Amino acid sequence: LIRFDNVTKRFGDNTVLDDLCFSVKPGKHVTLIGPSGSGKTTILRLLMTLESPEEGTITVAGRKLFPAAEKERREARKKIGMVFQQFNLFPNMTVLRNITEAPVRVLGLSKEEAEARARELLELVGLSEKADAKPGQLSGGQQQRVAIARALAMRPQVLLLDEVTSALDPELVAGVLDLLRDIARTTDITMVCVTHEMGFARDISDEVLMFDGGKVIESGPPEKIFSDPEQARTREFLGAVL
Ligand code: ATP
Repeated sequence: LIRFDNVTKRFGDNTVLDDLCFSVKPGKHVTLIGPSGSGKTTILRLLMTLESPEEGTITVAGRKLFPAAEKERREARKKIGMVFQQFNLFPNMTVLRNITEAPVRVLGLSKEEAEARARELLELVGLSEKADAKPGQLSGGQQQRVAIARALAMRPQVLLLDEVTSALDPELVAGVLDLLRDIARTTDITMVCVTHEMGFARDISDEVLMFDGGKVIESGPPEKIFSDPEQARTREFLGAVL
């Protein structure tokens, strides 16, 4: 469903992704791990078209994201939803409006259709009673649940999760991770996660990709990568974070 072919991304003379190749099959849950600065967030930002690569091809659901004409890129981009570390909700809109805004504007749903879907999603994330609240009136964990509902409202085939619990108070982390586990278990959505929560990565991932020096240096099922990695660099990294 997602393919990176020979993707190189540089910031000035810093080569962040170096001739990178990897792919994710439909419905799979993949976790990206690796040291700070190894380019994990950059991969998600490329998929969101918030950055563009210097070289290589990125394909999503059979459509080119890069290189591609603007129209094709927009179509490919609609298949992808993202949840950010800092929630990024619109502070002046109600919770309901945060969720209905993009489906109405981008997908062309009627206000009624979008609201019905938003209320279903609020029920899924356990926040039905907060539809008319503003984000500032919610806890961090509740805001992140709204951000998850907002991403799902676009009915994406791919959900990107970038350190979604690292801005949360410790007692709020488990609830958000449980919600994501439920979504992983009960939907066929493809997930790409960047996380430092290794327990969560172990639970939900079909595959873990270890990044270093702009490349995937090792990949495999979580049981293998976390318990018996092949590469010294992976052992060293896991030794520091586990
Ligand atoms: P972390 O785990 O710390 O979030 P990461 O693996 O997600 O790290 P990235 O955020 O993808 O790493 O960053 C990779 C490298 O690219 C870093 O060296 C960073 O400084 C650099 N970088 C990222 N965005 C930009 C930018 N907009 N301009 C210049 N350099 C950038």
